[in-house]
Formats: sequence, C-alpha cells, structure tokens
Amino acid sequence: MKSKTRFDRRRFLELLSVAGVAVYLPGCGPDDGQPPNNPPASSKKALVLGGGLAGLTAAYDLSKQGWDVTVLEAQASAGGRVQTHRAFENGQYAELGATRIPDVHDLTIAYAEEFGLKLVEFQDGTPLYYLGGNRFVHAEGTPWPIDGLSAEEAMEGLGMWSTYIAANFEKFGNPRDGSFPLPGVVDQWDGKTMIDYLKDQGATDAFLPLYASDNGSEVHKIGALAWMALEVADQDWNLTYHVEGGNDLIVQKLLEKLDGKILFEKVVKSISQDDTKVTVTVDAKGTTETYEADYLVCAIPFPPLRDVTFSPALPDDKQKAIDELYMMTAARGTFQTKTRFWKNDPLGELGGLKLVKSDTRAERVWDLTNTQTGDTGILVAYTQNENADAFGAVPEAEREAFMQAEIAKFFPEIEAEKSSFHQKVWAQDPWVKGAWTAILPGQWWMMAVIPRVEGRIHFAGEHTSIWAGWMQGAIESGKRAASEILKKS
Ligand SMILES: Cc1cc2nc3c(=O)[nH]c(=O)nc-3n(C[C@H](O)[C@H](O)[C@H](O)COP(=O)(O)OP(=O)(O)OC[C@H]3O[C@@H](n4cnc5c(N)ncnc54)[C@H](O)[C@@H]3O)c2cc1C
Repeated sequence: MKSKTRFDRRRFLELLSVAGVAVYLPGCGPDDGQPPNNPPASSKKALVLGGGLAGLTAAYDLSKQGWDVTVLEAQASAGGRVQTHRAFENGQYAELGATRIPDVHDLTIAYAEEFGLKLVEFQDGTPLYYLGGNRFVHAEGTPWPIDGLSAEEAMEGLGMWSTYIAANFEKFGNPRDGSFPLPGVVDQWDGKTMIDYLKDQGATDAFLPLYASDNGSEVHKIGALAWMALEVADQDWNLTYHVEGGNDLIVQKLLEKLDGKILFEKVVKSISQDDTKVTVTVDAKGTTETYEADYLVCAIPFPPLRDVTFSPALPDDKQKAIDELYMMTAARGTFQTKTRFWKNDPLGELGGLKLVKSDTRAERVWDLTNTQTGDTGILVAYTQNENADAFGAVPEAEREAFMQAEIAKFFPEIEAEKSSFHQKVWAQDPWVKGAWTAILPGQWWMMAVIPRVEGRIHFAGEHTSIWAGWMQGAIESGKRAASEILKKS
C-alpha cells in the first residue's frame, strides 16, 4: 500500500485561514466558544443529528472521550449514502452509493483497518468506449479513433490529464498543506465549470465527451475550483479498494461501537440554543419529542436541513448556504447478469471497474463483480447530472426498459443476459435529495461558511469537507466536529 498523507484538523484550519476566514466567528451565536461551566466527564451531553458516516464518526469520537452521546436518525436504518444492496443471487451485492476507496483516503482505510475489514482491490482491465456511436477499445500506443481531437489528444487520449490538469497543480496550491487556493486562483476560476477550465487549457470539443465518459458527466456542471481541489489533494491516487462484502460493513461496525446510542425514526424538526444548552425537537412517527444537550453536531445534508427551524435564526450567510448549496444528481440502474459476457466481447476481453465509458444516457457502466466471486455479473449504469435527471424523470415501472435500451446500444446481449434489476435515484431520496455536494461556479464563498460553528451547533457531513462526495469527507468532518466540541470542554 502506498504511503498516505493525513489531512488533519491543523491543515484544515490552515486552509481556511489562507482563504482569509475564521473558523469560529465570536458573536455569531449565543456562545462565545467556551461553555460557562465545564461539565464533569459523566455529565457532558452531545446530540448528533443524522446517522450517516459523518454523524456516526462524530458520535464515536465523542463517546470514546466519555461523552453521553445520542444520535437522532430519521430513517429506520443508519449509513445514509453508504448503502449495499444484497438482494441479488449467488450472494452478490451492489453498492448504491459509496463504492470506491482510493488508496489516498487514509481515514476511510483507517476505519477498515481498525474494524478488521478486508480491503480488496478493483482490478484493471480493458474498457469499452462508446462515443458518438463509435464502439471501440483503445490499444496503448495507437491513436484514439475520435474525430476532431488535436494531434496531441489523439496520441495521449485520457493521458492528457498530465497536460491539462496535473501540469497546473502548483498554480492552485494544495488543500493537504493548506495552500489551496493560492492568491488569485479564486478570482480566476470561481466563475468557471470544470469543462470551461479544460477548454481554457486548449481541450478540443471532441476531447470533452471522452473526459466526461471517464470522470462522469458532473464535470459539465461542477465548479473548476471544487474539482481541482480534489484533483490536487488526491493526485497520488493509484490503487482503488472496496470493503470485501460491502462498504456498509464500515457502518455496521460503527453501529456496534455505538450500541444503544442511536435512536431511529426521529425526524429532526427544530434546533434551538441558548447560552447553556441546545434543544432539538423531533417527529417520532407522529409524536413530538424533545432532546437537550450541551452541544450538538448537525450532520444532516443541507437539502433536508432546509425543513428544520433554527432558533435563534442562523446568520444570513449560513442560511443562504443551506438554501443554495447544490447537490449533484446521480442515479444507478443495476442489472444482475447470467454470465460475465463482456469477457467474450467481439473486440476482445473487456474488464475493469469502469467497464464501459459512453456518451449514452447509461453514461458509465461499472462491473461491480470485479471484486466478487461467481459466474454471474453485476453491471451498474452509473449516471450523473442530466443523465441522472433523465432517468429519474422516467416513471419507475419503465426505468428498467429505459436503461436496458441504453445499454443495448453497446451491449445488445443485455436483454438475454439480465436476470434482475434494481434502481436508485438519489435526487428522489428525501433524506438527501441529491447524491453529493457540488460547489458550482460562483459559490466558493460557501467553503468558509458551511463548516463554521454557530454557537453550540457544530456542522459535519461530506458537504463540510474538501472531500465532498467521498466517505473520506464524511469521516474527516465528523472528526473535526467532535474535536471542536472536545476543545471547548
Ligand atoms: C451515487 C453515489 C456514489 C458515491 N461514490 C462514492 C465512492 O465511490 N467513494 C466514496 O468514498 N464516497 C462515495 N460517495 C459519497 C459518500 O457516500 C458520502 O460522501 C457519504 O456517505 C456522506 O455521509 P454523510 O454522513 O455526510 O451524509 P449521509 O450519508 O447522507 O447521512 C446523512 C444522514 O442524515 C439523515 N437525515 C436526513 N434528514 C434528517 C432529519 N431531518 N432528521 C434526522 N436525520 C436526518 C439521513 O437519513 C442520513 O442517514 C457516493 C455517494 C453517492 C450518492
């Protein structure tokens, strides 16, 4: 395994201070950062709102320090966007959300190690491309068969990452050492999407669908700054792992550690605070219940948080961030297949997690059985942005046929091969209303506001981390929020 770099709280604070902001603004809430009376260990109480990876991490860290912690979770189960679907034959399973663990995501890997979970590596293979109706595989050293590429793009293909992206890393700074974004970077790039950025570097129009087919169509919408922050932070990413048996085993292990501390089917409705405590009301299957504590970690994604009332009201900029933060849309249409027919493709043996990279509505097709045994296969059409919206707009009963028709454009075998189907449209999940945070052009100001402490209320969740859209971000944010509270006591 590669050596790993830790993005710790100190560096996070450096990042924010370089951005010219204070992490905690005295006077923006009723608490000045210190509790009036430091309670003895046994009486320190914290509430954690939301039982996703961020909330569970905060609860775990606080409980390890002797705090009396209660997690309030809206659903009947925990884990949020870490969901492993196990209703397939032959013991096979599919991730509906978090799938990949890059070898540079030290916090996610540390959980797997602490909990004794085995990490398995996704194996490389030859992907199929289906772009502009052209079905091909690419052999190293041969030109990419895409009309309109520049001479360099035709030779390098996706290797243009080095020229268009990596060559500029030093101009941006690095979130891991607190230097991102360097002076002038926000002025230059905050108004641009990642696709605008690529065009500015000289990418041709013909290159863009190739890039999106590898990275996901969200690159058409997400801001260049948010994308480049992660490119720089994870530039040493080499291997990609998965928890053997399913990534939700991390959640299950955390639940064991937090035995009895999680209350399910408690939908948070209001949060109030004064100079001595926080008070939360929940809707518990039609009954209103009230909980009190010294401090609170709010790990609810911002879209459902829009339905929660704060008293006193949050500062205007925080409320604006809650109201305007954009959740990228993503959806997955998953087929179990009778065989792994793509190993006998007319173009040769296909393989790898990213099995197909296309510009169809199916977008990218991933082979989730890449790390699983058995002869049957699991193919997931992993759609984002407009492709996810198009899939979500199809009536539920027609989605299987819709996705099958898209996949049939490059895999006509799908009709005869499929044995079952499952679908998940994240924008229609009421407890997140989207897939992950995407800081859009013009929204970089939110980076300092989103994680800011508001009195006794501390914020966690992937949306509060530079690793937005990753388990690493959820874990990093939960640890940060817990350490903020521990420092106050
Ligand atoms: C399609 C998809 C693909 C992904 N791929 C990867 C990947 O390959 N690798 C990776 O590392 N990460 C990936 N991620 C991202 C990763 O899953 C998330 O970053 C992470 O799980 C977010 O954790 P969280 O705790 O911040 O939020 P969540 O998991 O959303 O947890 C929030 C919790 O709050 C609860 N809640 C909401 N409203 C209320 C309320 N009013 N009251 C009480 N509780 C409430 C929810 O029920 C939920 O349990 C992916 C996500 C998606 C959707």
